[in-house]
Amino acid sequence: MSTIFSQIVEGEIPARVVYEDETTMAFLDANPLAPGHTLVIPKDEYERLNDVPEDVAADLYATIHRMVPAVEESVDADATTVAFNNGEEAGQEVPHVHCHIVPRFEGDGGGPIHAMFGGPADLEDDELDDIADEIESRA
Ligand code: AMP
Repeated sequence: MSTIFSQIVEGEIPARVVYEDETTMAFLDANPLAPGHTLVIPKDEYERLNDVPEDVAADLYATIHRMVPAVEESVDADATTVAFNNGEEAGQEVPHVHCHIVPRFEGDGGGPIHAMFGGPADLEDDELDDIADEIESRA
């Protein structure tokens, strides 16, 4: 079963497509959090960022880089929140990698990404050292 975003890529369901190239596409979110809320996807189906091959990741970032100023200027936004929900537990509902570009306006009340967590995690220095070592060894 193809994802709803693959169906958009195939033209099987309508979308307000704002950019398309060989490997990526951008279209307006159907339930916008703000005017201009745009999604950027790889055309091929990958569930998570972790699954995206390096060349496609480069194309995806290039399109994000192109679309952020285009979106901001189009709706006269002061800023943007640019984010991926990467995995179901992180709130990802559509299992096809997509980057949210959400225009932000002074006083919109949305808060920073940090607001999702209510405060920093309680971690000791030695735990942080271990975590840093684990991540560094895999990077
Ligand atoms: P996420 O929770 O990160 O998986 O976000 C999925 C996003 O896809 C939501 O913001 C939805 O509003 C959006 N969405 C779902 N179906 C469509 C569609 N057919 N066209 C455009 N956006 C969609």
